[in-house]
Amino acid sequence: MVSVGGVVVRAHCCPLSTYQKPMILATFKMISDVTCIRFVKHTVEEDYIIFVKGKGWVSKVGGMQPLYYGRGCQVENICHELMHTLGLYHERTRFDRDRYVHINWKNNMKGKDLIEEKNCIKKTANTLNVMYDIESIMHYGPYFFSKNQKPTMELINNPTSRMGQKTKLTNLDIQKLNRLYRCTDIIKYKF
Ligand SMILES: [Zn+2]
Repeated sequence: MVSVGGVVVRAHCCPLSTYQKPMILATFKMISDVTCIRFVKHTVEEDYIIFVKGKGWVSKVGGMQPLYYGRGCQVENICHELMHTLGLYHERTRFDRDRYVHINWKNNMKGKDLIEEKNCIKKTANTLNVMYDIESIMHYGPYFFSKNQKPTMELINNPTSRMGQKTKLTNLDIQKLNRLYRCTDIIKYKF
């Protein structure tokens, strides 16, 4: 089940419905089809991801951790959360984001939270030498968390580009995963 030279992520799922199981398997496939990352069933290992039914979908970045998924959770949402679990932050928290997007703090919903504000705070994480990706599955759209129907984020250089999406991994998303997990020599990119 483990490909030679690949990276294995152990995963454990609570009892899954006939609706949830194919979704989670499809999410694994979405990532393993284009990287050397393989998901295998967790047994006794210390480090693993546990899928937990919860409200909405939330996960943390790095470490041993739960990935919460809710009723309306689709493959792409789970993929976004799984990307966090695999070590990736929201694109707009990159230290160089101000060259690409402008955050309209005044339009951000207050109270929804500090979490949202935290989501905007720049991090010093390694960019893996991959360009800023406005269309990344890890990039929010321009109106996310708006309290007044005005954009919470605007593009600086190319205002007509599409910002954020939750439908697919972009080429740059794939590149990031492959660099982070050093897959480059193992698989061919599906570019
Ligand atoms: Zn997220």
